[in-house]
Amino acid sequence: MGADIYLDNAATTPVRQEVIETLLDSLPKTFGNASSIHSFGQDAKRLLEESRERLGTCIGASAEEVIFTGGGTESDNLALRGAAYALRDRGNHIITTGIEHHAVLNCCKDLESEGFDVTYLPVNRECRLDPQWLVELIKPETTLVSVMFANNETGSLQPLEDVGRITGEKGIVFHTDAVQALGKVPVDVDRLGVDLLSMSAHKIYGPKGVGALYIRKGTPIQPIVFGGSHEKGLRPGTENVPGIAAFATAAELAVSELKDSDGHIRGLREKLASGVEKGIRGVHRNGNPESSLPNILNMSFEGVDGESLLLNLDLLGIAVSTGSACTSGATEPSHVLTAMGLSPLLAQGSLRFSFGRENTSGEVDRVLEVLPDVVSRLRKLSTIKISE
Ligand code: PLP
Repeated sequence: MGADIYLDNAATTPVRQEVIETLLDSLPKTFGNASSIHSFGQDAKRLLEESRERLGTCIGASAEEVIFTGGGTESDNLALRGAAYALRDRGNHIITTGIEHHAVLNCCKDLESEGFDVTYLPVNRECRLDPQWLVELIKPETTLVSVMFANNETGSLQPLEDVGRITGEKGIVFHTDAVQALGKVPVDVDRLGVDLLSMSAHKIYGPKGVGALYIRKGTPIQPIVFGGSHEKGLRPGTENVPGIAAFATAAELAVSELKDSDGHIRGLREKLASGVEKGIRGVHRNGNPESSLPNILNMSFEGVDGESLLLNLDLLGIAVSTGSACTSGATEPSHVLTAMGLSPLLAQGSLRFSFGRENTSGEVDRVLEVLPDVVSRLRKLSTIKISE
């Protein structure tokens, strides 16, 4: 049976009707190769450039600063690798945080294997970085800093303006992964002082496999994939023009509806959080709701395994997520929650509920109706004691 209540919108979102319409309109009509000089190609090129302009406007950037990619992971890799290689003769030190998405973390690990020196900054219990730690760890060889805009497990927002000021003063290139933030909070590249910013369409009701990288004019960067001269030679390969146009539609709608969706989504989240806190003992909310995205709620349930909780909720038609990763059959606690100082046991007992525009108050009622029983049943089977 498929889930009836979808509370995993930070993993991906359903494609919205207006976006489907953009796709369906463009797929048959604008099929030309945007690099072709005949009229079919020029129609596709026009739609591509229009979409670039529309997406740029959503983040306060000019069209020529937007490069389309195959998703958030690819944008992160192009930003990190592309800038690290381009700056290699200036230095080989990169600073990031320990709570980044694996698209950043594993790219940094690979850069380490190529001889780059990477520092992973810690976060506090609220999943936030202290900018002072960054100041202390910058070296003369530091060329690149990558700090995510909002964490995908807890929703915590990072102090990007401070980071941007610090890197700006030192002439260090600043990248942020804004995959979770775009469309949930205002994103303005100049206010943040970022040089590189990653985005992905499928987190904002757009199609999967489409992303973009903002590159501030003059930022040193080189391609990491080689081919033709598409996207200024930085991302060779025939552009997915219908997907890109759909991304622009999704971004415009998400940004224009930001205020309304924030109220609706935040309201549902707080209703669930307070209901769970009232109805179930031994529950901890992870992260600070005052400095987080409106849509993510992360909670640890003492004496319960998060994965068992997830599977039991799925049987009841409710889709949520855990932050744990399954590596070779063993479940590893989330690197984000452990970086915040949670014990591995508590981290294993965590769930992420992430809300979207289609969720309703009735759905939250349903979760609150079934969750206490599921938790209590699993606790009876568990040998782990809960604190009173
Ligand atoms: N960065 C963050 C913070 C994410 O949450 C995700 C997706 O989960 C990604 C990057 C990867 O984006 P994509 O799925 O488009 O490759």
